[in-house]
Amino acid sequence: MKVVVVVGGVGGARFLLGIKAALGLPPIGEGESPHQVTALVNTGDDVWLHGLRICPDLDTCMYTLGGGIDTARGWGHAGETWTVKAELEAYGAEPTWFGLGDKDIATHLIRSRMLRAGYPLSAVTEALCDRWRPGVRLLPMTDDRVETHVVVDDPEDKGQRKALHFQEWWVRYRAELPAHSIVPVGADESTPSPGVVEAIEEADAVLFAPSNPVVSIGTVLSVPGVREALRKTSAGIVGISPIIGGKPLRGMADACLSAIGVETSAEGVGRHYGSRQTSDDGLLDGWLVQSGESVDVPGVAVRAVPLLMSDVDATAKMARAALELSGVDVD
Ligand code: GDP
Ligand code: CA
Repeated sequence: MKVVVVVGGVGGARFLLGIKAALGLPPIGEGESPHQVTALVNTGDDVWLHGLRICPDLDTCMYTLGGGIDTARGWGHAGETWTVKAELEAYGAEPTWFGLGDKDIATHLIRSRMLRAGYPLSAVTEALCDRWRPGVRLLPMTDDRVETHVVVDDPEDKGQRKALHFQEWWVRYRAELPAHSIVPVGADESTPSPGVVEAIEEADAVLFAPSNPVVSIGTVLSVPGVREALRKTSAGIVGISPIIGGKPLRGMADACLSAIGVETSAEGVGRHYGSRQTSDDGLLDGWLVQSGESVDVPGVAVRAVPLLMSDVDATAKMARAALELSGVDVD
């Protein structure tokens, strides 16, 4: 079975663990599987800091699936230390608000060196995955530079608007500055990285992880060619709601949804993705929402199941429900 999963960082990575368990993919380095999972990963959060290229969502997926993640925090290495960050601060080197761990920096050093030598991000990611063996093919949505920017009222200059890199808005300001708009800068001129469109075309099932609908899934969908491939694929497309009881589980996805005028609810997000069957640009055949919620998305098969990714078993059940709703035979 070939499964494509569109993902962001923490929510996406945890969901991928569930997919691996649902399909019984063997532990890292042990044996082969008849199933192939390809993750199309958001790169709109990527940023150059201190001369290093940081790819937060790719790294979260790679470390989570490779067994190296700090599980409590959800991002970065387990057992991380922060010596370099403290030294940079002692120099007064801006920005100081981004958490760059010592172990993590090794990843960024290798990535930046390879990018400067001319390798595309997809090849760099493959090289990094040689070490982490995530068991899932991690494809950056594009090899081109796309960076999400958020337009806010300038906190330092009253009456003026300012575009911040998504990371600055999210990490430094905790998404507390109301966003006028959220723009994936560079997306219009970008192309999907090699294998992205083919993976969608050849898939038996396509899933939208319970990732941020705007700055994770929405950014992947903004790469020209991705939406078209999704509209055409013979695979069933099923999304999983990241919104339960009208709230995101963690993070500030509600701030992103209000910026694009979408209600923070499973119904609002489902309707935002839309029906592949009954609308001209919709993408969903199925939509999973939390048990007990009654949600109506015209033209989309809605199922209610437990959606809390509290552990891998619970996540695997949810992944299995998504695969079944997409029409594939999981057993
Ligand atoms: P990020 O890039 O690290 O922000 O992560 P993603 O975009 O992949 O995922 C963030 C989304 O995951 C948030 O909007 C959360 O609501 C959602 N999320 C986190 N944990 C859970 C969970 O246990 N269940 C569901 N359904 N969604 C979750
Ligand atoms: Ca992210």
